[in-house]
Amino acid sequence: MEEKRDDRFPTENVKLLVEGTISWEDAKKAMRLRPKDKDRFWKYLEVLQQRVPWKDKILLRISDHLYIVAKPDAKRVVKCDCGHEFGDYRVNWKLSCRIRVRRTVEEMTEVFGIEEATLDPSLVELREYYCPGCLAQLATEAVPVGYPPIVEMLPDLDTFYREWLGKPLPDERPDWFQNRTLEAPARWMEEG
Ligand SMILES: [Zn+2]
Repeated sequence: MEEKRDDRFPTENVKLLVEGTISWEDAKKAMRLRPKDKDRFWKYLEVLQQRVPWKDKILLRISDHLYIVAKPDAKRVVKCDCGHEFGDYRVNWKLSCRIRVRRTVEEMTEVFGIEEATLDPSLVELREYYCPGCLAQLATEAVPVGYPPIVEMLPDLDTFYREWLGKPLPDERPDWFQNRTLEAPARWMEEG
């Protein structure tokens, strides 16, 4: 994937950065490098790829545990570092999570510690999203009851790879950049 390597900020340092153990001096160097090393994103992907126990190609990391990966069958899916797959990345992965909802002051106090610090359960509920594979907590949100799960990020991968990285993805298509979340509940309705 790389043509010319720029080792002014080497892959080893990117690895330390991802692991959170880089020295402040080296971190400053990464921020201040002028011009920036052009292949930093590719080094970053390389580091991420080495850290996961599976082979699917990572296109983008979208949270501490989640990645959008390219599957051999030409699908782009959300995948947890544990290997659990959440399906098409255009459908909010939260719909495939195990979800815990806290609706009472008592339930919220378990999280906030003291009753006075909780949210007002007449206004909002607190949702926790867990990976069905490894039970890692993937997200939390405080929203009005009945509010749809918030889409945290729907990246335009084709534009990112083509315009920003200068290396278009081989399976570019205009319909990749679409929020298809509503198709999931529609399917559930059909399935009865
Ligand atoms: Zn997981």
